[in-house]
Amino acid sequence: MINLEKKLRAAGLRPTKQRLLISNYLFSGSHMHVTADSLYSELSKSGVNISLATIYNVLNIFTSHGLLREISIDSSRSYFDTNTKKHYHYYYEKTAKLEDIDIEKLQINPLPEKRNGFDVSSIDIVIRVNG
Ligand SMILES: [Zn+2]
Repeated sequence: MINLEKKLRAAGLRPTKQRLLISNYLFSGSHMHVTADSLYSELSKSGVNISLATIYNVLNIFTSHGLLREISIDSSRSYFDTNTKKHYHYYYEKTAKLEDIDIEKLQINPLPEKRNGFDVSSIDIVIRVNG
């Protein structure tokens, strides 16, 4: 838990017990995509009881401090991604799963750099798959 404490402090966050428990689930293994609901049920299964409201709060705070990236699929579904590097996604509509796509594997040509004089701040691509 020590590394996680450092990770939270480095992001400017106080390492509260709930934030550490959630961090332990999110950041101890390989990258993952979670929703608040999926995280709530996974934590409950492993005996960690944190309210859904607290999970929403922690996910949003982690996102605003750069520890997670939020991916909106539609108005009712948001995923939180532990991989904060630039990448795109496949979204499997039937299983509601996300899969990463390396940016090198998807070319946008020409890549817009400016629009009406404004810099492009980010490009999010979700390719929906019927499966
Ligand atoms: Zn991802």
